[in-house]
Amino acid sequence: NETLAIESQKLSVAGQLAAGIAHEVRNPLTSINGFLQLIRDDADEKTKDYLEIIFSEIKRIELVLSELLILAKPQTVSYRHIDVKETLVHVQKLLNTNAILYNIDIRTEFSPDDLFIKGDENQLKQVFINLIKNGIESMPRGGTITLKGLLNKHNKVVLTFEDQGVGMKRDILDKLGEPFFTTKTKGTGLGLTICLRILRDHRADVRVNSEPGEGTKFFLSFESAGPPTRKKREKADAQASVR
Ligand code: ADP
Ligand code: MG
Repeated sequence: NETLAIESQKLSVAGQLAAGIAHEVRNPLTSINGFLQLIRDDADEKTKDYLEIIFSEIKRIELVLSELLILAKPQTVSYRHIDVKETLVHVQKLLNTNAILYNIDIRTEFSPDDLFIKGDENQLKQVFINLIKNGIESMPRGGTITLKGLLNKHNKVVLTFEDQGVGMKRDILDKLGEPFFTTKTKGTGLGLTICLRILRDHRADVRVNSEPGEGTKFFLSFESAGPPTRKKREKADAQASVR
């Protein structure tokens, strides 16, 4: 079972156009939502039932729109020296409560203990959250998600996201990252598109290895930035204390 490189080319075309449309649709949708709230206030029971359905459909449109907007040219990216281990552990904590509900254990392994890359922390969090969520969603009966980080001999920081979920057949693997490609009833099919877009901006290499019925491993490889210089560290500490 071979490990495939995921091409980032297929995502650029649809992205920009879709983001433009998302902007246009969002405002009228907010207005529709507001007036429907007013109607609900003095509606009869039957109308209220219908409105509940309408509201949940609006929520779904909003989810798709917000994901499309992320695909728009990022407004504020700031590439800094970051310790990806810290970022991953942060995301792990963020998703842990949710994971426990699904009987899922998220583990981490790092070697060495600090791994530095140049990147935008918020965008990378976005990527890690999407990959872990996919892992969680691939294990309806629970299991373990393992997050690994290592520095290899080619000076690359390699992050691995491994689940024990349903896995993917070749035809699905070939479609990964295509906008709107989803096999889930409530999926948007934009999670990986967003990931690939961000990872391309970070010049990261993305690979996947999946075995139907066994699980999936995503590998992200970044140029290592090495530990920050003392000056940079002092500056970062000073900024952290201001915040
Ligand atoms: P969504 O999660 O909304 O479906 P994504 O872009 O995140 O959209 O994923 C697209 C599809 O790729 C998923 O619907 C699923 O079929 C497949 N997929 C992604 N990650 C995994 C995984 N870890 N295990 C199994 N299938 C996956
Ligand atoms: Mg997803």
